[in-house]
Amino acid sequence: MTDGVDRPCGLLVVIAGPSGVGKGTVHRHVRAALDDAVLSVSVTTRAPRPGERDGVDYHFVDPERFEAMAAAGDLLEGARYAGNLYGTPLAPVVAAVAQGAVVLLDIEVQGAVQVKERVPDALLVFLLPPSCEELEARLRGRGTEDDATIARRLDVARQEVASSEVFDVRVVNDDLATCVAEVLTHIAAARRVGR
Ligand code: 5GP
Repeated sequence: MTDGVDRPCGLLVVIAGPSGVGKGTVHRHVRAALDDAVLSVSVTTRAPRPGERDGVDYHFVDPERFEAMAAAGDLLEGARYAGNLYGTPLAPVVAAVAQGAVVLLDIEVQGAVQVKERVPDALLVFLLPPSCEELEARLRGRGTEDDATIARRLDVARQEVASSEVFDVRVVNDDLATCVAEVLTHIAAARRVGR
């Protein structure tokens, strides 16, 4: 990912972690701290939550459209998560990295593994909750999911933490500012290596 000129090179950064770990907040802070970072907008077959906007939070599509994009090679990665399909559109990621941007992906673990296979230079960051109890409390506090959904997401979370060794770095999201600073340090180091 060397571009030969005197500016930081583009970098693909996956910040993943179990549902409820605070990924969205960490992503927002990391993006705000970097003037050349963009967040990839995924496609999903999940229904929009109240307040979510099509094309901003996700591209909301039906399963047929999702499968067509996957078959056409339009997705960098894709996975089924808690009964819905999610994927990262390839073209915007390639274009932004080529322009020297940091492209942030907020995706789950199976997708992160696919990214590492296709883009070995990508930086994979796994966010860990301070504890399982804290994770459950955060999920319940969000108030957007029913009990069955929370139970399913906690199950997935346990599996995700268990398979997080594929990630380059693991960062505990206990204190937000400390966590964000740590992630930014890893991004800066990865960009220096890439030059
Ligand atoms: P949510 O339904 O809460 O928005 O997201 C559920 C999970 O899907 C989260 O862990 C989120 O990071 C992940 N996710 C969102 N977009 C993508 C994507 O494009 N690919 C993959 N593999 N996971 C995604």
